[in-house]
Amino acid sequence: MTNKDLADLLYPDVTKTIEDLEKMFPPRNLQDNQEVCRFAPSPTGRMHMGNLYASFVPEVFANQSNGVFILRIEDTDNKRAIANGIQLIIDDLENYHYIVKEDPIKGGLYGPYIQTERKEIYHTVAKYLVSIGRAYPCFCSEEDLTKMREQQEQIKDRIGYYGKYAKCRNLSYDEVKKHIEKGDKWVLRLKSEGDFNKKIIFKDLVKGTIQLPENDIDQVLIKSDGIPPYAFAHVCDDHFMRVTIVTRDDSYISSVPYHLELWNACGFKEPKFAHLLPLNKKEGNTVRKISKRKDPEAAVSFYHEKGIPVEAIKLYFATLMNSNFEGWFLQNPDKSYRDFKFTFDKMSKSGPLFDLDKLINISKNYISKLKATEVYETLLNWSYEFDLEFYNLLTKYKNYTINILNIEREQKKPRKDFSCYSEIKKYIWYMYDELFTNLEYEWQNITDQDEIRKILKSYILKYDINDDKDNWFNKMKEVCSELGYASDMKQYKENPGNYKGNIADISNVLRVALTTKAMTPDLYEIMKLLGRDKIEERFNMI
Ligand code: GLU
Repeated sequence: MTNKDLADLLYPDVTKTIEDLEKMFPPRNLQDNQEVCRFAPSPTGRMHMGNLYASFVPEVFANQSNGVFILRIEDTDNKRAIANGIQLIIDDLENYHYIVKEDPIKGGLYGPYIQTERKEIYHTVAKYLVSIGRAYPCFCSEEDLTKMREQQEQIKDRIGYYGKYAKCRNLSYDEVKKHIEKGDKWVLRLKSEGDFNKKIIFKDLVKGTIQLPENDIDQVLIKSDGIPPYAFAHVCDDHFMRVTIVTRDDSYISSVPYHLELWNACGFKEPKFAHLLPLNKKEGNTVRKISKRKDPEAAVSFYHEKGIPVEAIKLYFATLMNSNFEGWFLQNPDKSYRDFKFTFDKMSKSGPLFDLDKLINISKNYISKLKATEVYETLLNWSYEFDLEFYNLLTKYKNYTINILNIEREQKKPRKDFSCYSEIKKYIWYMYDELFTNLEYEWQNITDQDEIRKILKSYILKYDINDDKDNWFNKMKEVCSELGYASDMKQYKENPGNYKGNIADISNVLRVALTTKAMTPDLYEIMKLLGRDKIEERFNMI
């Protein structure tokens, strides 16, 4: 009996051949440097910063080469899958404006893009491996395997199903047939040809040249329920999706010798590998992996609630991804990260450090460069979800709000006070009468109410909304002379005893009376927007 007979016995229903699959999923028509990369998550819950970054990397490499970025769902471990897990991942990638060419919803010529729908492909390749003598059925029970492991532990031998421990390796056709006829459960195992005492050398795009012992374990290719574990599934998928670079977590690196043996056994040309180090976080003196459980900033929702723009997060990812990005961006502040040429050799070999303060700083810079109308639109969307009272004001006073947001914006050195959308109200609330209640005035040097009223009265008699900035300032100086304050700081410093105070004290009184705040953006602009009536009204509140 031949291997081919064994293959037919094990997979009588598989009618396609590996050649058929090659024809169904032909090599892509790629130019020299076009790359096909994929993100292959398990649908176990909402994305977090770790896997958002892990998907940013292949997305960038695929799209910067004008290639293809694929989303493939690895759902073979159904114990961990959650009901709407696939949709959550698709939504997050969309929210972050990732360019995904093929995914479970869009489809594509190389689908299906969900592993549990690809069983026929796995079984076709499995049957092929049996037919060439590189795979065999194993009927060992859980009990047999536990006993074997215990024995290995006892004599301090390497754990695993290999060499003399691989009991089912040499079953005859008739023995297999008997088992099958009895309905015994079986798994399919690789017939490994590796030698643990020999080394395999391979190149990783991030980590460089790596040397590891060859695989000699007869690993499981197909479980008794017909589903393949990760390793065999990814080889079939990455080959027949014609992936050129496999990017994935660093934890897979020790399995590469086994994976390479599989690629080889199937007769597939292996792709390039790039093992990505996880995002780390500094905690005291130690560095640890960022954790979904321990770190609130690991959740995507954290940024969404705060209103940190996704583009700022991606800029931050770009700085984590390539050490030379930040310098380039400083030189090219108006360009998109998509204009930068990312390379694997500039990726951290020790794990990028996630630094929330830095991300917030990038966000500040990013928002400062937006047009007032852009800030307005995003603020409106954010508040619709998180602050309906504010949303209503923004809608009611649309143009007024855009003008407020435009103070010290769209200029060479724009204001940089907003680091996220949830913060904006904190900076501009006083511009809305509806919010101008429960006031706590931040008076500075002048706190006497009578003196404050005197200053406000003197000022309002002079104020003219049509004054240009110089005239506006001159009127403050006039108040100074009228009430015994120095309008010139130099003179004040020479003889402070001659004055009640100086022009800064006067402008502070105006500012605080109008806004309650001691620090605000340009007061001249604020007053122009408030208008005479509101100014008088607020002065009269004191
Ligand atoms: N499903 C695997 C994981 O979530 C993906 C590994 C890979 O990208 O190949 O870890």
